[in-house]
Amino acid sequence: ISGYNGKNVLVLGIAKSGYAAATLLHKLGAHVTVNDYKPFEENPMAQELNRLGMEVVCGHHPLSLLDGTDLIVKNPGIPYTNVLLQAALQKDIPIITEVELAYEISEAPFIAITGSNGKTTTTTLIFEMLREGQKKPIIAGNIGTVACEVTQEAKPDEHVVIELSSFQLMGTRVFRPKIALFLNLFEAHLDYHGTKEEYGRAKANIFKNQNETDYSVINAEDPEVMKLAASTKGKKIYFSTKQSLPDGACIQDGQLIFRGEPIMFIQDIALPGEHNLENILAAVSAAKLAGVSNPAIQQVLKTFTGVKHRLQYVATVNNRKFYNDSKATNILATQKALSAFVQPVVLLAGGLDRGNEFDELVPYLQHTKAMVLFGQTAEKLAKAAYTAGIKAVKVVNNLEQAVQEAYRLSEEGDVVLLSPACASWDQFKTFEDRGDMFIQAVHKLV
Ligand code: ADP
Repeated sequence: ISGYNGKNVLVLGIAKSGYAAATLLHKLGAHVTVNDYKPFEENPMAQELNRLGMEVVCGHHPLSLLDGTDLIVKNPGIPYTNVLLQAALQKDIPIITEVELAYEISEAPFIAITGSNGKTTTTTLIFEMLREGQKKPIIAGNIGTVACEVTQEAKPDEHVVIELSSFQLMGTRVFRPKIALFLNLFEAHLDYHGTKEEYGRAKANIFKNQNETDYSVINAEDPEVMKLAASTKGKKIYFSTKQSLPDGACIQDGQLIFRGEPIMFIQDIALPGEHNLENILAAVSAAKLAGVSNPAIQQVLKTFTGVKHRLQYVATVNNRKFYNDSKATNILATQKALSAFVQPVVLLAGGLDRGNEFDELVPYLQHTKAMVLFGQTAEKLAKAAYTAGIKAVKVVNNLEQAVQEAYRLSEEGDVVLLSPACASWDQFKTFEDRGDMFIQAVHKLV
């Protein structure tokens, strides 16, 4: 950590994580320059950093910013195609993200979770299990407070539980989690990473510095993950809902098993969905490896019913059950949501068009009796619906109409499911907004 004293560090992109990184580096004695696209006058965080004595350049990104720079800390959202970053790469200036700093200053070990889907659910489960088991977890990153803010105070007997995106993992150098989980890999964010290989490699960074005293928790049913995890030096712990694994986490005779030890009956688990069983096996592995007792794990699994907007049960209206899965921003997530139900489903879907087709959804639409579609991808989704032989397909203008239409198309005993298979940004600020609007519209039906 003393390594930052006197160094010239450029922080690219302010937002919450950039702000935290800049103040931390300043405290550690670095000469910090901050660069952000938003003009200084409209940028309260930049003004504050300036007041604290940092150099602040706003509104443009001159290449001269790189003169004398020893290190760049970039916002995970800034792509490497950025002109300044390209020039930095040419000059061999190291580029990291804020999680790297968070790791370096932490005295507590890290439990890190990555994958295309299920990160937040698994992270939350691990946090709850460690809390129930008195293992003093600290939640950091996307879900909680900015990582390098909370890890400054972390004690050696605590555990930092952190969800990591491929963007964050691209910028790691010495980052070495005690327990690293890689849940699954699905094509996503190709606009940023270019190819699936590159996206996978970024995620596999979670293992790159692990050694035999660490654990790598790996999805045995995902061939891509298996390939990417093959070279980890951590102790491999596999999980699977489909095969028995003597040294991993699995299901046998209706029981959840970890390394041969029965933990509980799966019928006592509150969280619905086959995909959640995968998340649960991954979370139980982490909790057991961190020393959490079986009763603590049982207690959490008996009561935890899910994170908001992730296959969240909303209400029953005239015998139709409404579920909010607004966080399903890609096809895999919607496949999983559809697989969670045996009842007939009326599906609400659509959103931002990323250029893909929806053929991969077709095999999962057998229980779907009607689709109500909105947003940029409505027509493409309608094509998939016709291929699946669904007769009742409606395109509507907005989500409130979609809920009313879905209600009209549904019968007693049906499930009405919002699982858009698309990002929300064409019509909403965030997926949370979309989910909240859905909930409101459902409550209006009552
Ligand atoms: P993330 O943080 O990775 O986006 P979440 O836990 O927020 O993951 O879940 C996002 C969506 O992905 C959920 O709405 C759910 O439908 C789907 N999902 C959750 N877990 C899995 C999994 N293990 N495999 C596939 N899809 C999943």
